[in-house]
Amino acid sequence: MPIDPTLPYNDDNIFAKILRGEIPCKKVYEDDSALAFHDINPQAPTHILVIPKGRYVSWDDFSARGSDREIAGFVRAVGLIAREAGYVESGYRLLANVGQDGHQEVPHLHVHIFAGRPLGPMLAR
Ligand code: 5GP
Repeated sequence: MPIDPTLPYNDDNIFAKILRGEIPCKKVYEDDSALAFHDINPQAPTHILVIPKGRYVSWDDFSARGSDREIAGFVRAVGLIAREAGYVESGYRLLANVGQDGHQEVPHLHVHIFAGRPLGPMLAR
């Protein structure tokens, strides 16, 4: 079920539990501002989720309330993860779902990185 991105941050969400180490993840990368791990239900040969460490519901929330430092750190982390995985040459896709029409299911901002095969058109028709 898509979440309501206008609700306040809920510390019980699954990615908050991963950040607190209460639920395991296959970690790819971690720094002060971001944690990245493999998606549990991959949609491409590589499907990584990158989340900010701060309590942000969505891209909307992060872009409105995040500090310049948090936003710069997070955006750089996304680029670094894809670069270090070797996907710049072959290409990759970033996706951040927001709310009902975006079909966001977890109410902690996450950017999907898809890579490892031609990914086809941007949206299902
Ligand atoms: P959304 O639809 O919110 O953009 O994507 C949520 C993503 O989180 C989905 O791709 C789903 O497979 C992934 N996911 C949900 N629960 C877990 C979990 O417990 N661990 C991991 N690694 N991924 C999860």
